[in-house]
Amino acid sequence: MSAVREWPLRVGAEERGSNDGETFAAHNPATGEKIATVPRCREADVEACVAAATQAHGRWSELGPLERAERLNRLADAIDARAEEIARLDAVDNGSPLDYFRTDVRNTTWQLRYFAGLALEIKGETLPGDRDRLNYSLRQPYGVVARITPFNHPFMFAARGSAAPLIAGNTVVIKPSEHTSLSTLLFAEIAAEVLGPGVVGVVTGFGEEAGEPLVAHPDVRRVGFTGSVPGGQRVLATAAAAGIKHVTCELGGKNPLVVLADADLDAAVDGVVNGMNFTWSSQSCGSTSRVLVAEAVHAELVAAIGERVAALRPGPPEDEATMMGALVNQLQYEKVQRYIAIGREEGAEEVVAGGPVAVAGHERGFFVRPAVFDKVDPGSRLAQEEIFGPVLAVMPFAELEEAIAIANGVEFGLTAGIYTRDLGAAHRFARDVEAGSVWVNDSSKHFPGAPFGGWKASGLGQEESIEEIVSYTRAKNVNVNFA
Ligand code: NAD
Repeated sequence: MSAVREWPLRVGAEERGSNDGETFAAHNPATGEKIATVPRCREADVEACVAAATQAHGRWSELGPLERAERLNRLADAIDARAEEIARLDAVDNGSPLDYFRTDVRNTTWQLRYFAGLALEIKGETLPGDRDRLNYSLRQPYGVVARITPFNHPFMFAARGSAAPLIAGNTVVIKPSEHTSLSTLLFAEIAAEVLGPGVVGVVTGFGEEAGEPLVAHPDVRRVGFTGSVPGGQRVLATAAAAGIKHVTCELGGKNPLVVLADADLDAAVDGVVNGMNFTWSSQSCGSTSRVLVAEAVHAELVAAIGERVAALRPGPPEDEATMMGALVNQLQYEKVQRYIAIGREEGAEEVVAGGPVAVAGHERGFFVRPAVFDKVDPGSRLAQEEIFGPVLAVMPFAELEEAIAIANGVEFGLTAGIYTRDLGAAHRFARDVEAGSVWVNDSSKHFPGAPFGGWKASGLGQEESIEEIVSYTRAKNVNVNFA
């Protein structure tokens, strides 16, 4: 039994408990062991953290873009120096494999440096006008920005998600998922050392108790939310009721991956397996959870996918050989099993039987084997609802037009992919599919600097690119008569 760490709340330069001393427990999803206590923040803590961020804002925004860039680069260096500690903390708190979180830390630091490098791109325009008149525009920070994050990439979403608001001159208060708070608390500690107190604050706790008062706070005019569609709807409603606020949302997906008959089938199978992100039990917004296969290659492809998926074995997150970790918590564990039962009830063909699995020495862990269902009805729950777990739905189709109709026939529109050698078909698909990101003969990989964001219920706004920085600024147009 390892020691249970009591994490403090950091308010500006001060470390303390939550206002009324309340805490909640963090557990290791792979063992069931209690690993930490976390401050259970409520409105008074939110008030204190936002006040500290407001106080820090003047100092931070006055630094100017080059100095802020310098500090963001130093923050990236400080994170690199503690990369292994961060990755291990996420692994014990989240349950996905350690190596996956090492990649998250690397992705975080390059994005911090990327956003630092864009510091001088936060610029306005001048307009041609009369001889004695000048019109120009400015891009100014909002002040205090709220960042609300989900459980699947705890450190990366907290730290990378702070980069764009910070470089634009805002200070940030993060509300991490109540299921994975620890690495965000560590991020706030590192940020305080490098950037000074209050520039990055954290309120840990639950959506209604800590998230809602943060969104509703009058000094928070900009909210960046990453999470589920219902979570995004609640945040939008709170922001609307509390005043008009700029809210961007990175939400769920039920992403289609289409395989045409002329595709390189080996590459397509790789694309399906990699795109499903089984390593982290498919707990990823971008997981390609609907595979649409041309009838001519359907049987062959399903057999190949089934073989690959059946070989996946969940294992302890800290074990370097682990191919797939544990689900984050009991809720996710039960949800995945519920959807496997739904697939069976709906009459889909079970190609790979998924379900709970025991891992030696980790009997209380939330491990599941992935499931593959074939001939799934495109209108069924298995095909329509985001499971956020390792349950793959395969659907055959006859023509590309039918595949596009099935691809678009859900409420989501995050990502989509196609495997084909037909250039025309690839471009028709890319043109007509309703998704914010499209892959042709590839899946899953994010392209550095490319805007990422969903269509339809999958989101509002784009991140990971210059558009994200611009979204953390307010435009102001200035008219000058100097006659
Ligand atoms: P969630 O919506 O349950 O929670 C996300 C965050 O919102 C948590 O911090 C939670 O405490 C907070 N929250 C909940 N209710 C709130 C409220 N009323 N006010 C303010 N905050 C509130 O999501 P989750 O289960 O943690 O994450 C999984 C979801 O996130 C999936 O749907 C997944 O697709 C999505 N996701 C999307 C992206 C993307 O980039 N599009 C990335 C990762 C995850």
